[in-house]
Amino acid sequence: MREMAGGPRVLLKRLREMMAEALEPQERLDRIVREIAQNMVAEVCSLYILRSDSVLELYATEGLNPSAVHLAQLRLGQGLVGTIAASARALNLSDAQKHPAFAYLPETGEEIYHSFLGVPVLRAGRTLGVLVVQNRTKRHYREDEEEALETVAMVIAEMIATGDLARLNRAGIELDLRRAVTLSGLAFNDGVGLGHVVLHEPRIVVTNLFNEDSEEELERLEVALSSLRLSIDDMLSRREVAFEGEHRAVLEAYRMFANDRGWVRRLEEAVRNGLTAEAAVEKVQSDMRARMMHMTDPYLRERMSDLDDLANRLLRQLLGRGPDALAEALPKDAILVARNMGAAELLDYPRQKLRGLVLEDGAPTSHIVIVARAIGLPTVGEVKGAVSMAENGDAAIVDGEDGQVHLRPQSDIEAAYTEKVRFRARRQKIYRELRDKPSRTKDGQDVALFMNAGLAVDLPQLAQSGAEGIGLFRTELQFMVASTFPRAEAQERLYREVLEAADGKPVTFRTIDIGGDKVLPYFKGPQQEENPALGWRAIRLTLDRPGLLRTQIRALLKAAGGRELRLMLPMVTEVAEIQQARAIIDREVRHLSRFAHLLPTELKIGAMIEVPALLWQLDELMEAVDFVSVGSNDLFQFVTATDRGNTRIADRFDPLSVPFLRILRQIVRAGDAAGTPVTLCGELAGRPVSAMALLGIGFRAISMAPASIGPVKAMLTELPLDKLEAVMDEALANHSAKTNIRQTLRQFAATHEIPL
Ligand code: PEP
Ligand code: MG
Repeated sequence: MREMAGGPRVLLKRLREMMAEALEPQERLDRIVREIAQNMVAEVCSLYILRSDSVLELYATEGLNPSAVHLAQLRLGQGLVGTIAASARALNLSDAQKHPAFAYLPETGEEIYHSFLGVPVLRAGRTLGVLVVQNRTKRHYREDEEEALETVAMVIAEMIATGDLARLNRAGIELDLRRAVTLSGLAFNDGVGLGHVVLHEPRIVVTNLFNEDSEEELERLEVALSSLRLSIDDMLSRREVAFEGEHRAVLEAYRMFANDRGWVRRLEEAVRNGLTAEAAVEKVQSDMRARMMHMTDPYLRERMSDLDDLANRLLRQLLGRGPDALAEALPKDAILVARNMGAAELLDYPRQKLRGLVLEDGAPTSHIVIVARAIGLPTVGEVKGAVSMAENGDAAIVDGEDGQVHLRPQSDIEAAYTEKVRFRARRQKIYRELRDKPSRTKDGQDVALFMNAGLAVDLPQLAQSGAEGIGLFRTELQFMVASTFPRAEAQERLYREVLEAADGKPVTFRTIDIGGDKVLPYFKGPQQEENPALGWRAIRLTLDRPGLLRTQIRALLKAAGGRELRLMLPMVTEVAEIQQARAIIDREVRHLSRFAHLLPTELKIGAMIEVPALLWQLDELMEAVDFVSVGSNDLFQFVTATDRGNTRIADRFDPLSVPFLRILRQIVRAGDAAGTPVTLCGELAGRPVSAMALLGIGFRAISMAPASIGPVKAMLTELPLDKLEAVMDEALANHSAKTNIRQTLRQFAATHEIPL
C-alpha cells in the first residue's frame, strides 16, 4: 500500500493556504485538484459540481483531458459520479469499469484508470458535487484515505457555498445551491411575507476549519463533550414538568448519542485528520445527515433530528456562543425558518422585523401557531426539508394562503407575489372599511365577533380589528413566557392594562390553563404523566393548588374594580368543579370587600366546553354558569381522540363533519333553551368557511384571532343566513358516507357570491 504523500494534515494545510491566496476561481480549483492528486498519490483528481438543471459538470481535473473541463457532463444518477451525487454515498472501487453504473465519457480519456474513489461534496446534508480520485492500478483505497477525501470535500463545499465559483458558470446556468425551490406545506396563518431567511437555530457557520495542533484540539473536543453530557444529565436529573414525557424521551436520546462511541470516534478521527473540533462536528453531522436522508422510518428520522440538535449544542459549546446574538443581527424583513419552536421563543424576536414563519413540524392548533396567529405572522407548517434547503440571508416568500414557501425565488415569482401583496393590501383596505360597519348578515341578523388575546402585544388589535371585545383572554401566556411565576402585582398590572385598553368592551379572562402541552419550565409536577393532555391540567390543577387560583382571582377582582369582570374556567369535566371554583371566587370577593376594595360592578362566571363529559350535563351546566364558550380545539381533540399537536393525524378528521357539527348544534340549542349565552373560541371560528358553518348551526357570537375578523366579517355581510340554516339542517339530518359538508358550504358560498 502506498502512503499518502504528507498525509491529510499537510494537504489541509496546503488547501488553507490556497484558499487564502488571491487567485482566479478556476486557477484555484485547478491547483486544488493538483494538490489533492499529489498528496493522495493519485493519477487523477476531478471535481464535478451539481448545477441547478441536475447536471454534474466537470469543473476541474488533474490527470484527465483538460479540454473536457466544463464540457464533460453527467446527469444526476448517471454513471459513477451521478450515482454518488444521487445517493450521497462514497464509491470505492478497484475496477471502476466493471461497476454496472459506469458510464464512459470519451472526452475525458479515463479508460486507462481502474481504481476509483469518489465522495459526495456535502453541505448540511445536501449534495453540491462529487470529488473523485483515480489510479491506473487496481487498488482499493483505504478507509483513512476515504475519510481524508471526505474532509477535503467539506472544504470544497464551503467554497461552493460562499459563491466563489459563480463566475465560472455558463450564462443562464446556476449552481444547484442557488437553485430556486418551492416547498409545500400547510397554511397555518394567512398572509404573504417577502423577506430574507433567518434560520431560527442557525446552522453555525464554522469559519475556522483547520487545527494547528491535533492534540490540543482533541482536548477541546473532550471538554466540550463532557460539558454537553453534564448539561444533559443535569436536565434529566431535574424532574420538572418541562422535562417529562416527550421532552424526556428526547433528552434520553441525546444522552445516548452524546455517549455513543461511534459518534465520538468519528469526531476524533476528523480532528486527527486536521480539522478543528467544530469543523469535525459539522463534517460528521453532514455525512450522517446525507446517509440518513433517504430513510423513511419515522422513528429513525426523529432520532436524526435529535442528533442534529445535539450537534448544534456541541457547536455552541465549542464556540461559547449563546442564542441571543441573533436577534440583534436580524434583517428588517426576516422569514424565520425552524424545525419547530416554542411559543416563547417566537416572542423573543421583535415582531416589527418579522415577515413570515416556516416550520418543518408544528400543528395547526399547537401553541407556536396560536401565537403566530395572534401576532398576525404569515405561517406555513409541515414544510419538509425547509431547514436544510434554506441558507441564512436567502430571499424567501411565505405564502400563508396557499401553504407554500419559495426559496431564492425567480424574478417572475417575486413579481407575482409583489402583485399578490398589493392585492391583499386592497383586500385589507376593504376589511378596514368593514370594520366600522355593523357585523350583520345579508338578511339582517347580528353576529358578535370577538377576538382572542393573551398578551399586552395583542391589545392594539382590539381597535384595529373592530372586535366587539375579547372573547378569550388566555391568561396562561403571561405565565408561559415568564421564567418564574408572575407575581400577584404583575398579574394585576396586565389585567388592568387589558381592561383599560378594552375601554368598556367586554373581556373574558380565562383562568390559568396550564398542563397538557402548556408547560411552565419553572413549575414542578408531582410525577411524570403518561398522557399529559388527559392529565393534571387547567382547572384540575388550580383546584388542587388553590393558592395559584386565589392569587389570580384576587388580581383579576382588583384590576376589574368598578367594571364588569367575566371569568371563564377551562377544561371543566363536571359541574361540581364550577361550584368549587365559585366557592374560591366568593371567598376572595368577601376578603376584598372586608378590606373595602373597589369590587367589580358585575361578576360573570362561565365555563369552557372542552371535555366531552359535559355534553351529558348540558342542562345542569347552563344553569350553573352565566355563559359558556366552546373550546373547539380541545373538544375536537377529545371527541375524535386526535392529539391536536400531532401533525401526522392533523388532517385526518374534519371538524366540519356531521358528528362534530351535531355536537356543536346541541350545545347551542341547550344554551338557547336555558337562556345562557354560548360562544365558540377555538381556531374553528377564525376561518370564513368554518365560521359560516357555525353561524349555520346557530352560533351568534364567536371569538377568533384578530386577523381573522376582517375575512369572517366580509363573509357574513354577504351571507343569507336563513337559507344557510335550512341547508345545514338538511345536511346534518342526512348523514351518509357521501356527505361532505365542507363541499356543501363551498357550493353555497359560490352560489351566493360569498367571499371565503
Ligand atoms: C380550545 O381548546 O379550543 C381553546 C380555545 O383553548 P386552548 O386552545 O388555549 O387550549
Ligand atoms: Mg383548550
